[in-house]
Amino acid sequence: MPAVLQIVVPTPAHSGLGDALSYQAPAALAPGTLVRVPLGQRETLGIVWSVQDPGQQAEGGHGPLRDIVAVVGDLSPLSDTWRQMVAFAAQYYQRSLGEVALAALPPQLRELNAEQLARRLKPKPPPRKPKKNRPADEVPATRPAEADTDTDADAGTDVAAQNDSAVTLTAEQAAALQHFAEDERPALLWGATGSGKTEVYLRLVEELLLRDPSHQALVMVPEINLTPQLEQRFVERFAPVYGEQAVVSMHSGMTPPQRLKSWLAAHAGTARIVLGTRMAVFASMPGLRLIIVDEEHDPSYKQQEGARYSARDMAVYRAHQESRHPDADGALQPCRVLLGSATPSLESWSACERGRYRRLDMPSRIGAGDLPTVRRVDMNHQPRRAIIAPPLVAALRERLANGEQSLIFLNRRGYAPVLHCADCGWKSECPHCSAFRVFHKIDRTLRCHHCGFTERVPHACPACGNLDIQPLGRGTERIEEHLAELLAGATRADGQPARIVRIDADTTKHKGTLESQLAQVHAGDVDVLVGTQMVTKGHDFRRVTLVAAINPDGALFSSDFRAPERLFALLMQAGGRAGRDASYTRAQGSRAELWIQTTYPAHPLFEALKRHDFASFATEELRERQRAGLPPVAFQALIRADARSQEVAQAFLNDAAAAAQGLPGATEVTLYPAVPMTIQRVANVERAQMLLESPTRMALQRFLAAWQPVLHTTRPKGLIRWLVDVDPLAI
Ligand code: ADP
Ligand code: ZN
Ligand code: ZN
Repeated sequence: MPAVLQIVVPTPAHSGLGDALSYQAPAALAPGTLVRVPLGQRETLGIVWSVQDPGQQAEGGHGPLRDIVAVVGDLSPLSDTWRQMVAFAAQYYQRSLGEVALAALPPQLRELNAEQLARRLKPKPPPRKPKKNRPADEVPATRPAEADTDTDADAGTDVAAQNDSAVTLTAEQAAALQHFAEDERPALLWGATGSGKTEVYLRLVEELLLRDPSHQALVMVPEINLTPQLEQRFVERFAPVYGEQAVVSMHSGMTPPQRLKSWLAAHAGTARIVLGTRMAVFASMPGLRLIIVDEEHDPSYKQQEGARYSARDMAVYRAHQESRHPDADGALQPCRVLLGSATPSLESWSACERGRYRRLDMPSRIGAGDLPTVRRVDMNHQPRRAIIAPPLVAALRERLANGEQSLIFLNRRGYAPVLHCADCGWKSECPHCSAFRVFHKIDRTLRCHHCGFTERVPHACPACGNLDIQPLGRGTERIEEHLAELLAGATRADGQPARIVRIDADTTKHKGTLESQLAQVHAGDVDVLVGTQMVTKGHDFRRVTLVAAINPDGALFSSDFRAPERLFALLMQAGGRAGRDASYTRAQGSRAELWIQTTYPAHPLFEALKRHDFASFATEELRERQRAGLPPVAFQALIRADARSQEVAQAFLNDAAAAAQGLPGATEVTLYPAVPMTIQRVANVERAQMLLESPTRMALQRFLAAWQPVLHTTRPKGLIRWLVDVDPLAI
């Protein structure tokens, strides 16, 4: 019987088309079925969203309905929870359902036509042993159901042997696992670097896979660079038992065919473990019962284009959703979520304080490698304009002579420039907000990104009259050169001059250069490594004993209220690169040190850092946020407009704000005036933004939903585009 189907197609966010279009098919198809459909002159992939009741009149009836072209291959339909998740993401992040749902699928699924896909989906020759649809009760209890026997037909793969090869858990690890098991709330694993968090992840996954042959786990990491490392550990642990195909990766560094392959394996349930970056949160995993988000504080989990979703927040939502949905046998099985970090986001930290999440603590480093000693260099007492202070230079020379490596890093990225006076300490604070005003070079103004208050840049320091007021934090491009000068006379133990290598976005533009540079470091061919944040993450440097932050002060007084939180995490992480190999450090007669060059040595952030005391830092920072009414106490959205002129961009935002009065939720949402963005002109496009703030997520959501149509209809001449960023990470 012919049926009318509501099908979600990739409509752009602001096309004005509805979220689903009606098509005709020879017979009803299950919701979640992938189909090829005509759209305008093209053919595109669509997802069946619902089937219209036979009696019901077709909607939007402009003439006869078009027919679907084909059903895609042999794929089982996307699950209800998957569809719920993308629908939620579209609604929450203010994008069209079609855009979000289709973007969540691998590109080849969208791009290949039905015939090409059918070819790819053609069943492979059957494996030597049947692997699917084996009832759980037929599986011997001591033996994983999908044990693939490529290597070894029957002996050695049993679970006991598997566990023997693994390490004995520390008391902290065992306690964390136990507490996780006895409490169904989302959990935050707060573990020092090197406390064995990864081992906890491995154990959780291990237990899950053993429990049920259909269960699947999703493990996320923030950066592509970190996936090979993690993949290796998971493959080592699980491939011998479950076969190579049980572990798949998903990230943007993979080729489209690889991504399709991983996706299909996850969708079919043959991949039991999916490892990936933020995009993996949308993987179709019918047996998903565990989600792990490693380094959950990392800003990379926030997508910065299209639907600006937070993969961490989506993970928590998804787990909740999956838990409420009965499985094939009609049983409710919890899907658990674990967030892990040494320096959790204040959002997750406060969720623990409020009892929404369960915190699991692992404070001790395994192997008794000490956390580095923190040494602050008071730059007020150093030669004026010194970029690297003499005591630090001396320490670098000492390490050099002793054959140890040093790592110098600059956090130059991402902080909006704040002006300051080096003589009296004046900074371009906003008189109306607990925020610093941002220096806009283009028209030499200071603007508050919170309230919009604007003044021309003063000629001289308003406090002391000093004529030399400067952006906080210096230009750092020449640091490598400068370092070479400073170390010119110094030699290594073998009499050779120091070898300095710089790693940043510029030196690693070409594929493979980062890897080869890192290999140089690991091989000991480098004495001093200079880099940006890039070098602080995850790397297991064995001979680095000294890490130095050259210019962290900018982040203490940034216009971005999250800058101190990021700085603390960054410094902890960077410090974690020093003295990783305790026996090496001891053998050298050395010790791990983290040096901080600062003009604010007594700043509470550095005091807490010195004690490696994240908890007191978080408590103090949360108190500050509470006072200022900032997230996680309040909720924000940012609306951005791009236009031919700054006036048009701002007028669009201000007009839309004026038209928003009386909308649902409006009384609980503060709309600040439009301001130019920090980088206000890009490729001749003028950019402006407006901040929205509300004490409740609900009111903000209600307001944004009601505001969308207003924004759509306010389209002045010269406006290029606008977009909404919900829960923005930078304002
Ligand atoms: P994290 O992820 O918290 O930084 P890892 O899981 O990488 O820490 O563990 C740090 C080191 O300790 C690794 O070399 C790991 O193999 C080792 N390790 C983890 N758990 C144990 C354990 N229970 N016993 C001995 N070594 C362990
Ligand atoms: Zn001054
Ligand atoms: Zn202000």
